[in-house]
Amino acid sequence: MLVDGYGRKITYLRISLTERCNFRCQYCMPEKPFSWKPNENLLSFDELFQFVKVAIDEGITKIRLTGGEPTLRADLDRFIKMIYDYKPDIDLAMTTNGYLLKEIAKDLKAAGLKRLNISLDSLRPETAARIAGKDVLSNVIAGIEAALEAGFQVKINMVPLKGVNDDEIVDILEWCRERGIQVRFIEYMENVHAHSDLVGMHGREILEPIRSRYKIERVGRQGSSPAFLYRIKEDGYLFGLIDPHKHDFCESCNRIRLTAEGYLIPCLYFDEAMSIKEAVRAGDIPRAVEILRQVLANKPKENRWSEEGSPSSNRAFYETGG
Ligand code: SAM
Ligand code: SF4
Repeated sequence: MLVDGYGRKITYLRISLTERCNFRCQYCMPEKPFSWKPNENLLSFDELFQFVKVAIDEGITKIRLTGGEPTLRADLDRFIKMIYDYKPDIDLAMTTNGYLLKEIAKDLKAAGLKRLNISLDSLRPETAARIAGKDVLSNVIAGIEAALEAGFQVKINMVPLKGVNDDEIVDILEWCRERGIQVRFIEYMENVHAHSDLVGMHGREILEPIRSRYKIERVGRQGSSPAFLYRIKEDGYLFGLIDPHKHDFCESCNRIRLTAEGYLIPCLYFDEAMSIKEAVRAGDIPRAVEILRQVLANKPKENRWSEEGSPSSNRAFYETGG
């Protein structure tokens, strides 16, 4: 069993498969980084799988693939199948911008991927393009439809930004509600890589337009999910709010992150990380597990987005996987 220094049981591994992305979201990677990390620095799927196997043996029950944009990694379905074949009942999910899903959703489902979180920040082509840095909306919508058709359980992520897409909170909620998809509104998390002009919205501000349209009630968190759920009384539709500025989900945090280059990161906000790359490349898996335990021992109690003046994290979301 994996337990951190505060007695929290760690059962959830998020793997960032690449820092590269085909979008340039203002809140994540508005500019292409000065230089990409060379591809040879990435752990291969075979190397990653060596670590995944022991992580599962040690008690990981949920794995999420993310990035950057995970669908940019060639042979993604092969990696998914490796994990699925090792432990078919693992909760295997992926977060994606959806742009390439139309072509690959069926293959990913056949390989054993179970759930998809897809980012959708606007239903207006110009606003979606303004946020993502290019015209993306029709591909993203086609990707969501392909995912539903392939039989995936889909959730939508939206990051509301003042003066950009804040007037679409109810539209996106209704779009998802009509399709029976759960939407989760994510508070913008300040980080030094984001566009400096961005103004995020606090959870209570995100809820305002929804409250003025519907009667809603608080449901709570499910397990260790960072999303606090609300229900529309009229029909029972559930939606989520992810509000790290409150950080009350840190108490039950069950996750650890692995970057594409092999760094284990104990908390999305924090800079502390240790590499398992050398150990994995040398085939020294016991050493990789030792490093994993060390990182867990140093996992901080809570993030720092809740502090006065909302400090910015140095961590790039495209590197850690959000
Ligand atoms: N490229 C994929 C995508 O966009 O879904 C996966 C990686 S992305 C880093 C994962 C999630 O983090 C997305 O839902 C994205 O909206 C969210 N995200 C990125 N930067 C963020 C920020 N500064 N604040 C809040 N959420 C952010
Ligand atoms: Fe790419 Fe996702 Fe970051 Fe947007 S949020 S730039 S899609 S990694």
